[in-house]
Amino acid sequence: MITCGWCNTHYTSWQSQCTSCGGPMPPLPGMELAPPPPPTPRVLPKGFALRTRLTGNVATWVGLIFFTFGSLMAVAIFFASPWATLFPLFFALGGFGMLRLGLTQANNTLRAFRFGTAVAGHVHSVDLDSSNRINDQYARKLVYHFQIENQLHEGSFSSFDSTLSTRRSGQPLWVLYLPEDPTNNTLYPPVR
Ligand SMILES: [Zn+2]
Repeated sequence: MITCGWCNTHYTSWQSQCTSCGGPMPPLPGMELAPPPPPTPRVLPKGFALRTRLTGNVATWVGLIFFTFGSLMAVAIFFASPWATLFPLFFALGGFGMLRLGLTQANNTLRAFRFGTAVAGHVHSVDLDSSNRINDQYARKLVYHFQIENQLHEGSFSSFDSTLSTRRSGQPLWVLYLPEDPTNNTLYPPVR
């Protein structure tokens, strides 16, 4: 099973472009470097920004639920007992913090996709990820390396995509990073 990293549509066989969102699919693993990512600002497939910020972002929606629920509770309790509003207020505050963190991370990711500098990196390792399991199936964790001015940087992600089992150490791939903070980096096209 091959998954579009932009919109999460599953395919049984590989194709170069996702039928659902139009995004480029990652080339099949191999020893040849794919054509470089398009120049900035890159146009992202439809729906990708919304998914990154909200629907596909656990921190954002859990934060949003906590914030909304806590605020409503605080207002409801306030008239009965002002002191008792402290508990739901903390709840709302925690939710707000999560929401902000989720949105900040999402915006950094989107910025890396749109404006990130492209550099050729390579697969460092692919291992089973014992912390990520669905129905007795383990995800795989891919670690990739890339260099900026002789400085080695690393990125990683965990995925159930079946192409990960065929990815090998040393295979080249394109990485996008933000020059002001290379810890904000991503593969292009994304794999998930
Ligand atoms: Zn897609």
